Amino acid sequence: MEHVQSEKLFAQAKSVIPGGVNSPVRAFKSVGCNPIFIEKASGSKIYDADGNEYIDFVGSWGPMILGHCHPKVVEAIQQTAAAGASFGAPTARETELAELVCAAYPNIEKVRMVSSGTEATMSAIRLARGYTGRDKILKFDGCYHGHADSLLVKAGSGLATFGVPTSPGVPADFAKYTLTATYNDLDEVKQLVTANNKEIACIILEPIAGNMGCVPPLPGFLEGLRELCTAEGIVLIIDEVMTGFRVAYGGAQERYGVRGDLVCLGKIIGGGLPVGAFGGKQEIMECLSPEGGVYQAGTLSGNPLAMSAGIATLKLLQEEGFYQQIEEKSLYLEKGLQQVTGSSSVATCWQRVGGMFCTYFQQGPVHSFADAVQSDTEQFGRFFRSMLAQGINLAPSQFEAGFMSVAHTQVDLDRTITAVERSLSQLAV
Ligand SMILES: *Cc1c(COP(=O)(O)O)cnc(C)c1O
Repeated sequence: MEHVQSEKLFAQAKSVIPGGVNSPVRAFKSVGCNPIFIEKASGSKIYDADGNEYIDFVGSWGPMILGHCHPKVVEAIQQTAAAGASFGAPTARETELAELVCAAYPNIEKVRMVSSGTEATMSAIRLARGYTGRDKILKFDGCYHGHADSLLVKAGSGLATFGVPTSPGVPADFAKYTLTATYNDLDEVKQLVTANNKEIACIILEPIAGNMGCVPPLPGFLEGLRELCTAEGIVLIIDEVMTGFRVAYGGAQERYGVRGDLVCLGKIIGGGLPVGAFGGKQEIMECLSPEGGVYQAGTLSGNPLAMSAGIATLKLLQEEGFYQQIEEKSLYLEKGLQQVTGSSSVATCWQRVGGMFCTYFQQGPVHSFADAVQSDTEQFGRFFRSMLAQGINLAPSQFEAGFMSVAHTQVDLDRTITAVERSLSQLAV
């Protein structure tokens, strides 16, 4: 498989774009090779600039649950574009998508559209601070909520230590308002809440952690957080940017039956166009400008093209048996992979919820970020490159989830299983 054009395009990109990419993980740095440049995609397949075809399990990092270029989504975007790309004024489509979101998530009484997941979480946190009049926030190590300043923080050494920034450019003064805890460790959260009595505005988390692979919540974890937040007047923000409309139409909250006070959405809700959203209890959402004093705005928020793509996508997800199909395809892949990994000498651990999954190169199980980093990332890099050479496009990092789409066929899945078997046998020697 040749990557001559991709190499050329990457060299050219690097001279005008930092690192040649507009989002860091696209650079393939952690898997020891250069990125492929994509020309087009269709259904379960993606094609690079050299004309190579790949079965795609990245799905634009989550949004493409229908597969690429679903005709109904393409048609919706084209028709809307012909009537004007942006007006900076309200349109009926924004209400239509808002109604679909409120119907899917009963705890979302009101919702505001933004243009990315980062904007959704950043705005939800500002709102939680404005609503409670408290400054501190609590997040979990290994959960990603976009790149807002206060979220680029990981834990110091001790429980009582304030957060330290993980990126230059984030003032330490700023980071000290961010507390971090271990995912799935309810006792640690309780200690932090006690130590910061009535100072914590919100707890934000991924209900299934998909930015350190695929880590489901342990039984009682979400329930315990819900109980604690209610008792302490803390706003529970459930970040469903990845899991919303992914693990069920109503997201992880539908699957686990635990509801946040605020919810963040993104990825699938835009059908491949830039959309994020945050919503929740009316009483909290009313604090938002222009009804309340918490400021939040966006020139392209509720953009007509993006709303149309989102509406068309959600309507297709409502079709009878949609999530059943995603589950069956994912289970088929799971069973096939377990057979080949079980007979390999390479230690791997497969974790999955619905149509999101991860193979960790370690014994597992993985319940937290500290567990996830025990993986053999060198070995993952070799595995990734071997899979790519066999025409399978995986996320270029051990700590990212893979995504199933409804367009993946049994032939695609069989080819994937065979490729994994071959890659593992190469690793074992
Ligand atoms: C992708 C992601 C975000 C950030 O969304 P962007 O659209 O990339 O800004 C936030 N939270 C979670 C859980 C995500 O997976």
